[in-house]
Amino acid sequence: MTGLSDSFQRPINYLRISVTDRCNLRCIYCMPPDGVCLISHEDILTYEEIGTVARAAAELGIDRIRLTGGEPLVRSGLPELIEMLAEIEVIGDISLTTNGILLGRCAAELKSAGLRRVNVSLDTLKSDKFELVTGGGGSLSQVLEGIEAAKGVGLEPVKLNMVVMSGINDDELLDFAAKTIAEEWHVRFIELMPLAGGTVPAARFVSAGEMRKRIEQLGELEPCLPAIGNGPARYFRLPHARGGIGFITPVSEHFCFQCNRLRLTADGKLRPCLLSDDEMDLKQPLRRGVSSAGLKQLIEEAVANKPLRHHMAEGYVPKERPFSQVGG
Ligand code: SAM
Repeated sequence: MTGLSDSFQRPINYLRISVTDRCNLRCIYCMPPDGVCLISHEDILTYEEIGTVARAAAELGIDRIRLTGGEPLVRSGLPELIEMLAEIEVIGDISLTTNGILLGRCAAELKSAGLRRVNVSLDTLKSDKFELVTGGGGSLSQVLEGIEAAKGVGLEPVKLNMVVMSGINDDELLDFAAKTIAEEWHVRFIELMPLAGGTVPAARFVSAGEMRKRIEQLGELEPCLPAIGNGPARYFRLPHARGGIGFITPVSEHFCFQCNRLRLTADGKLRPCLLSDDEMDLKQPLRRGVSSAGLKQLIEEAVANKPLRHHMAEGYVPKERPFSQVGG
């Protein structure tokens, strides 16, 4: 194995797999209240097909996988997929991004299937606001139970993702930051992206610089290394804090030059960039019985076409698909 790299010499070793476009929530920054047009079941990759892509990708140099969606935990039998992926020897890290609603009841099963850790989206610590931001479909207490269950079975570190929106939840920045002092919480504050599907106006954007200024009312943020992983967040710690604070800045300061990822959509398209509509279809070749060598060639082609950077700053965001279909 020589490793996979794109035409700008970026090593590509991370595959994010969207296992479904379905979601039990309707987060205002991600989906309209009535949901989006769903991909038909026949068009969604089977676990066997996902496994075939993952094995080919692993032979090329992918060694980390994250499962996402939609909401990955609404797809039945997810532990079977995790077991299948965990059998691929070179895959050293399998993680999951979830809204946490169903996590409490399946954390133990996910862990024993081979999942290493979870990221949980949590945008507010207030029950009434939770309903407003997520459109109902679950409760804050379910998410908090899910986080505790994940920690209880060792799916750690649990990282929490908060999309910060002015006048909606930015008044809770300090509450979230204070949690990292008292408890081993790892909170990542994410800049709002103006993506297809979301209904939050761009005027609600808060830059990471502004977030940081406000959080520093609690003390100086000292740079530190992430507890695990090498994602796009920049990590800090408040004085004497048990947990950490990360900032993810897709808008104010893109991190494309360090991008090491590929995405597989639920309907089998390989996307080299989250914020570009370019994608390579793998579903038809898979269903026509493509060989492992043929599949690897397609993956290499997609990687070769990975753009240098996204163009959100210039006003370009993908319009073809809502975020819930691509897998955030
Ligand atoms: N359902 C899972 C969840 O809620 O974590 C996984 C899918 S969700 C699309 C993945 C991530 O995308 C979440 O952390 C969410 O906060 C982020 N996200 C979705 N829309 C966004 C937007 N407009 N701006 C910034 N982040 C967004």
